[in-house]
Amino acid sequence: MKTVRTKAELKAALAGLSGTRALVMTMGALHEGHLSLVREAAKAADNVCVSIYVNPLQFAPGEDYESYPRRLGADLALLEQHNVALVYAPLDEDIYPRTPLVRIDPGPVARILEGKTRPTHFAGVLQIVHKVISLVQPQKAFFGQKDAQQLALIRTMAADLDLPVEICSVPIRREASGLALSSRNAYLSAEEKKAAETLSQSLFAARSGAAAGLGADAAVERIKAALAANPLIETDYVHAVDPDTFLILDGEKQVHGRALLVLAARVGSTRLIDNLEVDFR
Ligand code: AMP
Repeated sequence: MKTVRTKAELKAALAGLSGTRALVMTMGALHEGHLSLVREAAKAADNVCVSIYVNPLQFAPGEDYESYPRRLGADLALLEQHNVALVYAPLDEDIYPRTPLVRIDPGPVARILEGKTRPTHFAGVLQIVHKVISLVQPQKAFFGQKDAQQLALIRTMAADLDLPVEICSVPIRREASGLALSSRNAYLSAEEKKAAETLSQSLFAARSGAAAGLGADAAVERIKAALAANPLIETDYVHAVDPDTFLILDGEKQVHGRALLVLAARVGSTRLIDNLEVDFR
């Protein structure tokens, strides 16, 4: 496994790889969720390339850019055991030699849900995803269903800008309690972690409800009530969305068929997201 920090080093390392490449992009502090992307990538290509970069462009002032966990040494040791050919951990000054002038406009889906509380987030995400895909030139790139709105926007960018890459998705990895794995779980106290389990549990309960005939609006209300019952949780949003377009379905029309229940909530000072696909009759 080779680790490179600059575009020049990356170019030289890529020239030494033969066969196909699959890319996994991460912000580090790696956990089993990231590793499941690496495993899927390894099945799909001859070489797995992993990027590790806490991208300043996707954090707004006051968010956790400075405090985001950075553990490059431990991450590299973990990736060594997972059949990874190349790790690209760019240096800020090399990947952004100056503040970029040309920006990607992620369009309307970036202004709802996550984009409502984080209005500049997805533009920053798409900027780095476009850059790293252009630099690594993989045949396939793997992203987690955990960040479902991000995945939908990356798919749209790849389609609308004709990026020569196949965008592949990987299901959410969860703890036994149901809590979706996230690098941000490291911020949670034991008590907050227990409270955070309510997020996934409320989604799973809503899915069971849907199987018994519960409608989307009622499912959303049930999730909101379950979250509101815990004083450590402050709900940002709960919605049923179209799994492909990400347009909000609940409150708009009768929902029949597949929908994604999505939620965001603050547990203590940590903002967490989760989602689950549900079939409404
Ligand atoms: P991050 O390091 O949080 O930017 O995540 C890097 C990639 O890993 C993204 O495509 C995420 O969607 C994915 N990912 C993060 N957590 C999980 C999880 N629990 N299950 C599956 N994929 C995940």
